[in-house]
Amino acid sequence: MPVRLVFLGPPGAGKGTQARILEQRFGVKQISSGDLLRANLAQGTELGRQAEQYMRRGELVPDSLVVAMIDRELQQHSGAFVIDGFPRTVAQAEALDRLLDEHGWPLDAAIHFQADRETLIARLSARWTNPRNGRTYNTLTNPPRVPGIDDEDGGPLVQREDDQPDTLAKRLEVFELQTQPVIEYYRKAGKLVEVDALASVDAVAARINKATGATASSEAR
Ligand code: AMP
Repeated sequence: MPVRLVFLGPPGAGKGTQARILEQRFGVKQISSGDLLRANLAQGTELGRQAEQYMRRGELVPDSLVVAMIDRELQQHSGAFVIDGFPRTVAQAEALDRLLDEHGWPLDAAIHFQADRETLIARLSARWTNPRNGRTYNTLTNPPRVPGIDDEDGGPLVQREDDQPDTLAKRLEVFELQTQPVIEYYRKAGKLVEVDALASVDAVAARINKATGATASSEAR
């Protein structure tokens, strides 16, 4: 089982859900750039203050801020992680390669979650999020037992402000313009694994296990 992955894909493709599954099943630490930024915002840190306007507009937070944040996170995890939502620009991908080189932790694979725009919009308008830990529900496919309440911690769920139609359209556009080249970056590096994000949660999880297991065994040969 490889332990160093990045998850690439547009908002709503299921990256966070799959990262949490890997964390629960295999103890692989989930590092979610969006969750970390939202926690900084909620805590009113300097980083949160600097990131706020970009996030509100659905734009990317500047590379230098996000790279420094991920660097701090990586220091705390001894080489086993799945990074979800980062890198989102080629400059971030290059910076991540440098950081991983310094640690001697080569990436096992970059998983690309593929999905069409209409499905993503439908998914995100039905998404409810636990703001305390980033866990998500979908009122159509995976509703909480009590509407608006998290099954596990019993606290309120919210609809993210940046999942509203205008900001969402911007985030999808930013993905096409700025993150699509990152997919090519990993394809060229021979690390890219394509996943049909519209399959069921279990089918996507199985595909990731199979594909990344193959990566690990081919490295071992
Ligand atoms: P997410 O929850 O991954 O959709 O991220 C929410 C927002 O956080 C994005 O719309 C960006 O404003 C910001 N963000 C998250 N990850 C990154 C990243 N790798 N680079 C720049 N901005 C990011």
